[in-house]
Amino acid sequence: MTERTLSIIKPDGVARGLIGEVVKRFESAGIRIVAMKMVHMTRTQAEGFYAVHRERPFFDSLTTFMSSGPAVVMVLEGDNVIARNRELMGATNFKDAAEGTIRRDFATDIEKNVVHGSDAPETAAFEIAYFFNQFEIVGG
Ligand code: GDP
Repeated sequence: MTERTLSIIKPDGVARGLIGEVVKRFESAGIRIVAMKMVHMTRTQAEGFYAVHRERPFFDSLTTFMSSGPAVVMVLEGDNVIARNRELMGATNFKDAAEGTIRRDFATDIEKNVVHGSDAPETAAFEIAYFFNQFEIVGG
């Protein structure tokens, strides 16, 4: 089933010059990028994005990190793209991530793990709408 997901190249990935590398992995996997822009989130915007994690001990650190510099937000489209993107990303903790995944290859820390990807259709819908309106998504 064709679906959409939100991908973010986090501030560590942008700062380290990994935009092209991440985009190449999506394109090589046949995943379509149907929207893309750079954002520098405020702390409040990052807190809203990660609201589901607000009780977690790492919430302050995570939202400080996510608002620390520019990020690239993208809408990806394709068959089963939510799961396929999660596969390309690898496990949250890069030490547990499979060989050849983005996080295994580039993450430096459990928090600074280069990419974000929605984990379910409901979160994808919320996260896409958090950054994009319908006119910013091609074919939308
Ligand atoms: P994801 O869906 O794989 O991104 O993982 P989660 O939804 O569980 O966590 C969201 C983000 O919070 C992760 O991508 C990390 O950047 C960060 N994170 C997760 N677990 C930890 C942790 O134990 N410590 C810290 N500092 N950050 C974490």
